[in-house]
Parts: sequence; structure tokens; C-alpha cells
Amino acid sequence: MIDRLDKIRTEAEKAIQDAESMEALQELRVRFLGRKGELTRVLRGLKDLPGDRRAVAGQAANRLKSDLEAFLELKLAQLKESELNRQLQEERIDVTLPGVPVNSGRKHPLTQVLDEIKNIFTSMGFEIAEGPEIELDYYNFEALNIPRDHPARDMQDSFYITEEVLLRTHTSPVQVRTMEKKRPHLPVRIIAPGKVYRRDDDATHSPMFHQVEGLVLDENITFADLKGTLMSFARRVFREDVRVRFRTSFFPFTEPSAEMDISCVACGGKGCRVCSQTGWLEILGAGMVNPKVLAMSGYDPEEVTGFAFGMGVERIAMLKYDVNDLRLFFDNDIRFLTQF
Ligand SMILES: [Zn+2]
Repeated sequence: MIDRLDKIRTEAEKAIQDAESMEALQELRVRFLGRKGELTRVLRGLKDLPGDRRAVAGQAANRLKSDLEAFLELKLAQLKESELNRQLQEERIDVTLPGVPVNSGRKHPLTQVLDEIKNIFTSMGFEIAEGPEIELDYYNFEALNIPRDHPARDMQDSFYITEEVLLRTHTSPVQVRTMEKKRPHLPVRIIAPGKVYRRDDDATHSPMFHQVEGLVLDENITFADLKGTLMSFARRVFREDVRVRFRTSFFPFTEPSAEMDISCVACGGKGCRVCSQTGWLEILGAGMVNPKVLAMSGYDPEEVTGFAFGMGVERIAMLKYDVNDLRLFFDNDIRFLTQF
């Protein structure tokens, strides 16, 4: 028995010493120490030996087993190290190879347009004001001269939370909140950018969209100030050579009210698909602040005048970038968004 163990030891040690790969080493482990391995068979045969010889042989066999295990580990470590050295020597890293590109993010086109609009107005001395998106009916409608039975409410189909609380349908409530906060301070020059909500969903309407509202209050503010400010805005956001025109319109919170059109940015006013052959594009609504609204907000309409305007950011972005479906802005398709 001891002879057989010696023979296994000699054979195993030589084989392990000569092994050239980790795979070969694993085969040797199975061959000698595996369930049907040579040493395992010897250990199983011990039970047939008489007591005293069994103890001696058992000790020798167990010692051989642990020796072989240790030797296998040692050899494995050696092989790993030489593999690493080989890699270091042979597989030099070529630092001149192009790297893996990292995609950097960018601003959403609507954010870009919103930033541009904010820059234009702040450079003209406007402050940025913000208000809540969940708004009281009072600020969204009543204080803007739109009482409960007013037909203008039908144009702004709203998401109500309770009878008194709704998702704001326009940024105009910020006008009222600002007037309440600032009075009697003059002048007031603010823009209120933000999200608004209406129950609309088609190629040019989304249930959530962005508006920028503007308000200017002071003594002796006239319609000429309104025209000059908005014309200057249109020229900076579109093109230096756009022409503007004002058409009479109606908003309950301004009097008189107007829609402002710009000459078509696609055809220059000759008439095309974008402007429905009219040569003009509607871009915002505006007007002189209704004296009733001034009075409700605590300003004396005899002393203070002002103008207000509101525009849709999506509309401006669609015209600026010639996008024909508003929903593209919200689909989050990277192929669309990376074009801006
Ligand atoms: Zn046109």
C-alpha cells in the first residue's frame, strides 16, 4: 500500500510540475483527487486492511492528499503569474487607438428655446417670476376677469382637482400673484415661464405645454411700449428682418387685446405651406392690462397702466426649427432630439 502511494506521489508530482496550462492542471486534479481519482481509490481501499496497517496507510494517504492539493495550488499560482507576465510583455496596449465614445447629453430643444426667450427678456430688464402649477380657480380665472359663467373658460378646458383647485391653464395667474406681491412698487417688469395644462391632444396641442407670460406695469405705459418690446423680441428670436403686425383680438384680462403675427420665417411673406399661403404666422397674444384686473390686484387704474403678453414655447420652437408635429418634442426619440 505504501508502495502504491509512493508511486502515485512520484507520478503526480512530475505531471503537475510539467503541466503547462490551467486546463491541464484541472485534469490532473480530477485524475488524482477526483471522485474516481487514483488516490481516492486508494483511500476507499483502506477499509479492507487490518487495523494497524490501516492507520499507518491512512495517515500516509491523507498526507499525500494534502501535499498534492498544496502542490496544485502552488502550480496554479505560478501559471497565473506567468500568464500575466506574458500578457504584459506581448499584449502592449496601443494608446493611440481611438477610445470608446461617451455620448454627452444636451439640452432639450424646448429648454434651448425657453433659455433663449429668457435671455432676450432679461436683457431688456425683465425679471423672471414663477408660480405654482397647481393653482386656485381664483388666480387662474376669477382675478383675470374670467368669472365662472364666462365663455372664455370654454377655450381652456381644464384639469380640475377640486372645484376650487386646478392645473393652471396658462401662466397668467403669475401676473396676478406678482401684482399682489409687488404693489405698490413700480415699475413691474416680469416674465413668467412654465408648464401649463389643458385637455387637448393633437398634432399642435399637448395636454402639457409651456408658456411664457409677460407683464409690464408703470405710469404712462402705452400700446407703443407693447409693440416696441414685442417687435424687438420677435426680431431677436427669429430673424432681424421679420415684420410684425397686430390684429385685434379678445382676452378678458386685457383691453384692447391683440394677436401678434410675424412675417413667415419660411417664405419671407410670399406665402407657403408653413403659413397656409397667408405670408403671416401667429406667434403670441397681448394687450393692455384690463383696468378691472389692475383694480382687483390693488393698483389704481387711473395712475398705473401696463401691458401683458403670452406665448407658447412649443409654437415658437416649431416655427424656429420647422417642426410640424408638436408631439415630437415629447416622444423622447433620440434621433429627433440630437438634431438640435
Ligand atoms: Zn410662408
